[in-house]
Amino acid sequence: MSRHPCLSCGACCATFRVAFHWSEAAPELAGVTPPALTEPLDPHRVVMRGTMNKPTRCTSLVGDIGQAAHCGIYAQRPSPCHALQAAWENGEASPQCDRARIAHGLSPLTPQTWQTPVTPDLA
Ligand code: SF4
Ligand code: SF4
Repeated sequence: MSRHPCLSCGACCATFRVAFHWSEAAPELAGVTPPALTEPLDPHRVVMRGTMNKPTRCTSLVGDIGQAAHCGIYAQRPSPCHALQAAWENGEASPQCDRARIAHGLSPLTPQTWQTPVTPDLA
């Protein structure tokens, strides 16, 4: 079994602004994302800290992009992070994954990437 490709990547966490409704970071409303790791964007949304910066890098990303990287708050990550799929992991293209990897000098994933079983647990 080989390592999940996201664990050798992390590019999407250092490419996009990660914005979501503030309630996802409101413990009193059962939000699970730590509020201290977010900053305000507008009256309705916050962003993960670091993802509005240039260069972009979520402050919750741990490790080196393209080598060994993982989300430091995987179980508490917000909805955009749940939504971004690694390309072809579930048989579908992922333009965001491709864009992020290319931006960091990495080759896009292909259907062949998943022919060898990979470790399922990223946490
Ligand atoms: S979803 Fe794609 S860009 Fe994001 S960490 Fe995984 S392989 Fe890298
Ligand atoms: S919260 Fe985790 S998964 Fe989401 S951008 Fe930050 S490091 Fe990546």
